[in-house]
Amino acid sequence: MKTFYIETFGCQMNAHDSEKVIGTLVGEGYEQVETPEQAELVLYNTCSIRDKAEQKVFHRLDQFKRQQSGKTFAVLGCVAQQEGANIFEKAPHVSMVCGSASYAKLPELLVQLEAGNKRVTGLTFDSDETFETPMTRRDNPHRAYITIIEGCDKACSYCVVPFTRGPERSRVSASVIKEAGELARAGYTEIRLLGQNVNSYRDPSPAGWDFATLLNQVGHVDGIRRVRFTTSHPRDFTKPIIDAIEANPALCNHVHLPVQSGSDRILKSMQRLYTVDQYMERIEWMKASRRPIAITSDIIVGFPGETEEDFELTLALLKRVEYDSIFTFKYSKRPNTPALAMGDHIPEEEKSRRLVVLQETQRQIQIRRNAAYVGRHEECLVEGFNKATGQWIGRTSQHKTVNFLRPATEESIIGQYLNVEVTRAGPHSLAGQAVN
Ligand code: SAM
Ligand code: SF4
Repeated sequence: MKTFYIETFGCQMNAHDSEKVIGTLVGEGYEQVETPEQAELVLYNTCSIRDKAEQKVFHRLDQFKRQQSGKTFAVLGCVAQQEGANIFEKAPHVSMVCGSASYAKLPELLVQLEAGNKRVTGLTFDSDETFETPMTRRDNPHRAYITIIEGCDKACSYCVVPFTRGPERSRVSASVIKEAGELARAGYTEIRLLGQNVNSYRDPSPAGWDFATLLNQVGHVDGIRRVRFTTSHPRDFTKPIIDAIEANPALCNHVHLPVQSGSDRILKSMQRLYTVDQYMERIEWMKASRRPIAITSDIIVGFPGETEEDFELTLALLKRVEYDSIFTFKYSKRPNTPALAMGDHIPEEEKSRRLVVLQETQRQIQIRRNAAYVGRHEECLVEGFNKATGQWIGRTSQHKTVNFLRPATEESIIGQYLNVEVTRAGPHSLAGQAVN
């Protein structure tokens, strides 16, 4: 058993975990293949943030249920942690179930599988180590993820993450800076610092850096031109983070600060640990900054007990903040979470209605905000080329997508930084012409 196929569902944390899992497997002598049909070991790195995401892995596994394929199946990530050994009941052809807090044990679990063991699990939270691997197979040659903190110590009442990713474990700052330096020397220019709540980062080494210090230091690594970070929790988001962005040109003009709801009553019920006023104080820091900081958010509609009035407060908050973009979610019931036991669950059709109204309100904001970019010059990291339209695809520091034209050249310009004059704007992207 030496070939493997891996499919990843869910967030950037999962995408990066998979890069590390691939690095570990390659280090153990496995070869990655393109399709599950070609593979002897098939791994699914799963997401359970909402019910729909969770069902996906069982659909995938069902496809192989009746086939005597001779393959070994492994379920990794959040569904693995949440369902544990129950997965063997639901899908008896699965041999490995391993949550993200146990990935350091993967080499050991692989040895057990190779020895013919039919049921192996890694489901404990007994280690306070983070998952560091000497090899990480990165899927983008210019932009790299670095995990700085794993797990989550918050207890938002709708969220499975504290159950599926375990308690917070921060990485030693020297190890983060070393990895950033290695990435820069390998040609990466953009770094994304990852964690469920990066703001609660606490360096476990004697240096004792907080998140703002770490962010600033990563921005000083030679060769790194852009640093992003996600996700920030409003309760732990501090003014020194804005000060670091102002002082350090490598730190991008973008903060993702999920609010979830514009109603204090719902925020309390969600156990988010801040009020709308406290949230707005942080927004004001950004709006008062010398840097044009783009602000994005996550919003849940239809949380148990959310009245029309609560929902209207969320719409009012959207208009007050004028977000650059938002991720919108219909509340989804999750096992083990306190919200599950709350009364007054909102009917599905009503959640869908609120989602549409929310998205349309935000679309109008984006049309207005993006129109202000027409005529400006924006520095873009070129990320791709769209053959159908003949346009290059770039990203601004504010994380806006710019589709642009440029005189034809033989060489690829992907990975380069170019100035683009914005000539048109839509709700979701900008369009323009390269000027250098
Ligand atoms: N740690 C981050 C935070 O605090 O914002 C991200 C957590 S989660 C991976 C990303 C988003 O999924 C959350 O911000 C929330 O809006 C949404 N989400 C989490 N649980 C949900 C649920 N049960 N139903 C609907 N959306 C949910
Ligand atoms: Fe989930 Fe809240 Fe932790 Fe984010 S901060 S991962 S929403 S519990």
